[in-house]
This record gives sequence, C-alpha cells and structure tokens, in this order.
Amino acid sequence: MRNVEGFSVRTDRHTQMIDITSRIEGIVRESGVDSGLCTVFVPHTTAAVTINENADPDVVRDFTMEINKIVPWEDGYRHAEGNSAAHLKASMIGFSEQIIIDEGRLVLGTWQGIYFVEFDGPRTRKVYVKITR
Ligand code: ZN
Repeated sequence: MRNVEGFSVRTDRHTQMIDITSRIEGIVRESGVDSGLCTVFVPHTTAAVTINENADPDVVRDFTMEINKIVPWEDGYRHAEGNSAAHLKASMIGFSEQIIIDEGRLVLGTWQGIYFVEFDGPRTRKVYVKITR
C-alpha cells in the first residue's frame, strides 16, 4: 500500500494489550498534519484496537481477565480452528479507532492510551494508520 502507514506488533501472550500510543503519535508527527483525523485499523479477525486508561496497569490486567470470563475460551464452539472466542472478542472490541488531530497532536484524554489488543497470541500482527486532513 502506498498511502497507508503501518507497523508490526509482536505479541507474546495469548491475551495481551499493548500500548501503541507513542507509535501512532510518531506517525502523526511525521505526517506534518496539523489538523485532521487519524484512523487506526487492525487487519485481523482475532485482534482489535481500543482506547482506554494507560496510567494504572491494573486496568489492563482487569480488562483482559474479565473479557476472558465474558467469552470463555472453550464453550462448545464449532469453528474448527478452535479460536471462536478470539473472533468474538475481536468483534466486540472492534477493528478501528478514529482520533482527532489538533495542533499536530492526537486529541486524547489525560488518562487515555491506544491499545492493540491480542486475543489469539502470540503472533506477529499489523496495525495500519491513515491520516487525513
Ligand atoms: Zn478462527
């Protein structure tokens, strides 16, 4: 792809949230765009992207613990690959986020960070970023 930025994320756990805020901010900075929109997209069916607190690491711990209770790994699913729970969780959390860019920076709340969310790791994943004026 010519007009889409991106980077790889290597996950090392089965369920994992990785803070990708600084990598997205770097792409925004390099773009030179002062005012616009930043779309972050995850091109996978068992991983997602979300925005949540990045101050207290216990939020990430609680998030991954609870989502694995809401959608248990084994529950009589039929999907032969054996990872139906990961497909469900990925759709629940979603595959994209859009963040406003103002004065060349992402407009995020004080406690907000952008997370890549792995539901069927460890794997090497991709994150796409598109910046529009
Ligand atoms: Zn599958």
